Amino acid sequence: MSRNASPRFDNSYSRLPAAFYSRQAPTPVRSPALVRVNHALAGELGLSAEWLESAEGLAVLSGNSLAPGSDPIATAYAGHQFGGWNPRLGDGRAILLGEIIGLDGQRYDLQLKGAGRTPYARGGDGRSPLGPVLREYLIAEAMAVLGVPTSRALAAVTTGEQVYRDTPQPGGILTRIASSHIRIGTFQFFAGQGDADAVRALADHVLARHYPECLESERPYLELLRAVIRRQARLIAQWMQLGFIHGVMNTDNMLISGETIDYGPCAFMDRHDPATVYSSIDTGGRYAYANQPGIGQWNLAWLARVLLPLIDQDQDTAVGLAQSAIDEYVGLYQDAHAELMAAKLGFPIADQAARELVDDLLKLMTTQRSDHTLTFRRLAELAGPALGHSVADLIELAEPFTPWLERWLRQLEIAAPDAAQRQARMLALNPAFIPRNHLVEEVIRAAVDCGNVQPFHRLADRLARPFDYEPEDARYATPPAAGEEVLCTFCGT
Ligand code: AMP
Ligand code: MG
Repeated sequence: MSRNASPRFDNSYSRLPAAFYSRQAPTPVRSPALVRVNHALAGELGLSAEWLESAEGLAVLSGNSLAPGSDPIATAYAGHQFGGWNPRLGDGRAILLGEIIGLDGQRYDLQLKGAGRTPYARGGDGRSPLGPVLREYLIAEAMAVLGVPTSRALAAVTTGEQVYRDTPQPGGILTRIASSHIRIGTFQFFAGQGDADAVRALADHVLARHYPECLESERPYLELLRAVIRRQARLIAQWMQLGFIHGVMNTDNMLISGETIDYGPCAFMDRHDPATVYSSIDTGGRYAYANQPGIGQWNLAWLARVLLPLIDQDQDTAVGLAQSAIDEYVGLYQDAHAELMAAKLGFPIADQAARELVDDLLKLMTTQRSDHTLTFRRLAELAGPALGHSVADLIELAEPFTPWLERWLRQLEIAAPDAAQRQARMLALNPAFIPRNHLVEEVIRAAVDCGNVQPFHRLADRLARPFDYEPEDARYATPPAAGEEVLCTFCGT
């Protein structure tokens, strides 16, 4: 396609039955301005960054005009929020402009978040403050470059309008890309209404779109469930190895595609502590760091439940098959976690010795209140020859680590004897830079309170190369000093 043109759409979701969505155009905004266009992502999608940055592009990214071929809809879904059933959620402020095919041949949703009220808005204003838009941009893109499946941020704009939360704030719109926005809660929406035909139509759409390999199976719907379970197990293991806390793992925030979505009150933890919770609304700690794997299984059990009638006509048979799929989750998660953590420590396979070293390290990190990210980064450095650029000034592995370090290095000599090679592998798995909460807050404050988006750009640029440590950027790798820590995050809805 021409690189100077607007996106070319091929909208499959809006061809599904009418109950799946409401047709809804974005509500125009007064005075849009571009904050950032993601050039790298635009390139991957075959979109022209120049066009996105043009007046025409800005009009589309702010919802002030529709690109040709766009068929804007808000999708219906339900979900369990903090364990409680809500039969009617849906895109209250997000509008799917349409689907495009990326250069990889894959289909991607192009969605505006904060584009105005929809029939699912209930009491909401359909808008988003700029702060959460910048937050989602930074964290989604950091996750992507860290190798975690995720929705992406294509662009952020300001609206020139104020939104009213506790205080008036500048409004923003995020352009979000995901391989789809179909959630566990999308299935639950139809199952909750007893609409078996819609559940089947949705499952068929998902099979064709995300899991065509399951269509070969004798039981495609069971295979679909098992495939989603595999992806979610691995996804959550990836969060855990990075110290990422999603914060609002409601079933409506879990994508069937296995990508991370809904960066609201999420955060990367600084000190390693399994009990860490940041979200202001998670008062019971339901979505604490260490609870995430178990919540993942709880959420998937709801998907299993709604798929039961498709799995087998005989209910007992269906329940037996679905239950064993759900039971498999535990081993899948544990294996994925062990494999990722062993690799972080330089081990090519997660054998018994590696697993024990991982467990003991995590216990030590908890009792020593060690910085999650820097501990692993420092271990990567220590696994091989001394490096010119080191985080040694930023973290000290105190005396209680010594016996563990000796054991680990002895085991490394056996399992991965080439020191330079294992170190290089580890340096490429253990980032020096993550979107630390206090830095994210700092750049949001500059943008929101002072209208200065330069700190946001600098942080976004720095986070794009998380594995290349440079001492001149030490402040971006440094944990918060006492008093700088952000202990509470808000989803800003
Ligand atoms: P979230 O917490 O972002 O997962 O949103 C939960 C639900 O509330 C979803 O149905 C959202 O579409 C809806 N929602 C959140 N914020 C707003 C808003 N400002 N206006 C309308 N709906 C909203
Ligand atoms: Mg949500």
